[in-house]
Amino acid sequence: MAKSYENEHPIKAFGWAARDTFGALSPFNFSRRVTGEKDVQFKVMYCGICHSDLHQLKNEWGNSKYPVVPGHEIVGVVTEVGSKVEKFKVGDKVGVGCLVGSCRECENCSVDLENYCRRPTWTYNSYNSDGTLTFGGYSDIMVCDEHFVVHWPENLSMDAAPLLCAGITTYSPLKYFGLDKPGMHIGVVGLGGLGHMAVKFAKAFGTKVTVISTSASKKQEAIERLGADSFLISRDSEQMQDAVNTLDGIIDTVSAVHPILPLLMLLKSNGKLVMVGAPEKPVELPVFPLLMGRKLVAGSGIGGMKETQEMVDFAAKHNITPDVEIVPMDYVNIALERLLKSDVKYRFVLDIGNTLNKN
Ligand code: NAP
Ligand code: ZN
Repeated sequence: MAKSYENEHPIKAFGWAARDTFGALSPFNFSRRVTGEKDVQFKVMYCGICHSDLHQLKNEWGNSKYPVVPGHEIVGVVTEVGSKVEKFKVGDKVGVGCLVGSCRECENCSVDLENYCRRPTWTYNSYNSDGTLTFGGYSDIMVCDEHFVVHWPENLSMDAAPLLCAGITTYSPLKYFGLDKPGMHIGVVGLGGLGHMAVKFAKAFGTKVTVISTSASKKQEAIERLGADSFLISRDSEQMQDAVNTLDGIIDTVSAVHPILPLLMLLKSNGKLVMVGAPEKPVELPVFPLLMGRKLVAGSGIGGMKETQEMVDFAAKHNITPDVEIVPMDYVNIALERLLKSDVKYRFVLDIGNTLNKN
């Protein structure tokens, strides 16, 4: 029999995939590997819809490998463990984020920064060591090396799956860049999936938070529900002018090309602008305002496995969960269209466990 996605591995799997750059998803039969010695197999219950899914479905980053089964905010329940698995047992609640593998020996891997390994295996749109494509969490079953699986705390709802990407992507730079000190003033640009998590973590760390947004309609909720201290409309130059020189740091989560200069102007001297959004084209970086005030522009990508577990435990302890709109699997294409229009408060989560039906 010729190799096909359905029979390249022994375990039958089912999910939704895009076949081309239109990015429309439809049902897809494929297969997963047998649970290896160090592998955990689990039934997927919930999977968040990240803007990175949208970028990759449409090949906006230029590296998509079709068919693409997206999904990297995955929570499920363990159904089988390999003979050498130490951390998990059948029935445990678990989470998988953007990474399912790394070299485990490089400079980055050896200090728990698997996210910066130069040979990472991404949860989807990447290759397994046997050369087969990886497929993500818009599917019924996952098999993953236990190193890349986190324990899901008992008191954390399983639909809080967006912590696994939106959560860690904002928690990690707030910590690493020292923007987690009580009394600091932090800006969050873009109030979407990542942005609203940045607000929640920054508030939990005791900082003052200003949201910088293009959507005036998000103001009231940002303040009353998410706990932001103030709200700036980025296209209102008067408001932006009044806030010049007020921020110690900014987490920029914007998914599209946007002006950087107004953000640099908001920073105090020695302020840090951390880019976590991943627009498909380069943004323009004006250098002069960086020099005048010794400002820093940096980037940050998800987080390592140790920090991801730490973040999930911190979220459970402090009751920090994403605001989610739970939708059935067959709503996914509409959800993606709405995500493109920033029409979600603040993260879609697919109810895979109840709605991913083959028929
Ligand atoms: P999202 O929910 O769509 O949020 C992005 C927000 O950016 C929107 O809600 C909107 O907020 C703002 N925005 C959108 N278009 C804009 C424009 N043209 N100009 C200014 N603001 C605009 O997306 P997400 O899932 O949070 O992801 C955000 C970005 O982070 C994506 O590019 C994604 O690929 C990237 N990402 C990076 C990492 C990493 O490791 N670094 C991890 C995950 C995701 P307002 O309505 O408030 O303006
Ligand atoms: Zn993501």
